[in-house]
Amino acid sequence: MKTNGDDVAHISELQGSAPQELLRWALLRFHPRIAFASSFGAEDVVLIDMLVRIRPDARIVTLDTGRLHEETYDVMERIRRRYGVGIETFFPDREAVERLEREKGLYSFRDGIEHRKECCAIRKVEPLRRALAGLEAWISGLRREQAVTRGRIRNVEFDEAFGLLKLNPLADWSESQVWDYIRRHDVPYNDLHDRGFPSIGCAPCTRAVHKGEDIRAGRWWWERPEQKECGLHADAPDRVPAAEEVATAEPGLVAAPSIRSGS
Ligand code: SF4
Repeated sequence: MKTNGDDVAHISELQGSAPQELLRWALLRFHPRIAFASSFGAEDVVLIDMLVRIRPDARIVTLDTGRLHEETYDVMERIRRRYGVGIETFFPDREAVERLEREKGLYSFRDGIEHRKECCAIRKVEPLRRALAGLEAWISGLRREQAVTRGRIRNVEFDEAFGLLKLNPLADWSESQVWDYIRRHDVPYNDLHDRGFPSIGCAPCTRAVHKGEDIRAGRWWWERPEQKECGLHADAPDRVPAAEEVATAEPGLVAAPSIRSGS
């Protein structure tokens, strides 16, 4: 199904709308050529709960980097059982990981930003590119207030890196809105959130935060805040998608992502 000019007009109206309204439109318009890329953090389990209420067969993809916390696998399994959903897991390319570990060891990402980007490119960006291949749109759990790198994201934007429409239904939600939803609907969540981990990525690159620290302070804590993206989320365009961009967001048109620092 191709996107068209009518979509563009509707997308402008959808900016700032309730997450459920945006998801309902997107699933109606794009399913099965739309997927939610989940890392099973607090925002992500909220979106899964919303998605399955609209469409129990909504597609959920996830990246198993090989370096995740046990607690992340645990919440994935609790979500799978609670909602009866299929979770499409994508692993990194085996040969690329073997080469990286043989040549540079198991902790090369601590040797500098370029080494960290290399590991994220192998374990996250390339698998995400495969996960999104053939889609017209994808969904993320990004919120504007999460980080300085996310201050410009919109509910609906065109993702230049992957050549797809990107939906951020919780872009303008606060952390307390996320947790209110989780408690109200008794949504399973990652146990690490109760142990000082507001943001959870790979185990060796995530630590608990101290009182008063920024919510992303525990991610790649040896890097500067403006570097803390892994390449999954390119710089948000400060605009809505133009008609011709949306119209060309066809299956198979997946541009090579720009690899930036640090999900
Ligand atoms: Fe590698 Fe750390 Fe990036 Fe995970 S978060 S892919 S372990 S650098």
